[in-house]
Amino acid sequence: MEEIMLPVVTSPAEMAAQAERWRKAGETIALVPTMGCLHEGHASLIRRARQKAGKVVVSIFVNPIQFGPNEDYASYPRDLKGDTALAAAEGADLIFAPEASALYGPDFQTTISVAKLTAGLCGASRPGHFNGVTTVVALLFHLVKPHLAVFGAKDYQQAAVIRRMNTDLFFGIEIDVAPIVREPSGLALSSRNSYLSPQERAEATVLFQSLRLAEGLVQAGERNAGKITAAMRGLIDGVASSSIDYIAIVDPDSLAPVEEIDREVQVLLAVRIGTTRLIDNGRIGR
Ligand code: AMP
Repeated sequence: MEEIMLPVVTSPAEMAAQAERWRKAGETIALVPTMGCLHEGHASLIRRARQKAGKVVVSIFVNPIQFGPNEDYASYPRDLKGDTALAAAEGADLIFAPEASALYGPDFQTTISVAKLTAGLCGASRPGHFNGVTTVVALLFHLVKPHLAVFGAKDYQQAAVIRRMNTDLFFGIEIDVAPIVREPSGLALSSRNSYLSPQERAEATVLFQSLRLAEGLVQAGERNAGKITAAMRGLIDGVASSSIDYIAIVDPDSLAPVEEIDREVQVLLAVRIGTTRLIDNGRIGR
């Protein structure tokens, strides 16, 4: 297949100028923010953006300020060439891939912080993570000036936090959240799956299996959230390489814990398989 070339912009000022030109020409702009190493999950986001906007920008930025000191910033997989090819094949118009030093100058000292929604779940186990996310997404919103931004339901809490920031700061951007793309095994696609050994990859399907178990229990009439999370815990603990970070059943909007399942709720979990931390989630109680 012939390789399609795609402009890769690294300068924030150049990105902002291009966005301004598009806006002046009456174009609608969609942004798909990513950390690169793109897979079919990202591709589905780009396709949604393509359907809804005239210009599609894919940002590729491994954002140092959303990683904790003992997390995988240095080893996070990077593949700009492969990413450019995938984004081009999906019909993106431009890749924005700034250097960290270009976004965060030596005297950078601003943080965007969403309070309540970030207190629990991944926010509790990854202190400062969501401040890093909201700060970089606010920067991207300002530079790319999108009408629409597409995120994945895979990072459910992140999407809720971004929606809140978008509303609170009057960005006025349409936030679109796309469904989770999974392997046939049920494993949610993730750039971090590349860390898993073949055996761990098979074991990692227990996250999805536990969500199926939760759904089955609710279908069978179980209404007690504690009993459902206990059953999920039992299933996951059966995998020797696993260690559970959290399992939670929450209100889909406020992310507040739910005890009695009398409506649709969101089940979220974070589990380490070996040293790789994976997240997944699903809606139950429909
Ligand atoms: P990341 O590059 O992992 O930071 O992800 C960038 C965007 O892609 C986020 O909005 C993610 O939620 C989304 N994403 C990642 N994996 C998937 C997936 N398996 N299905 C749908 N969206 C995804």
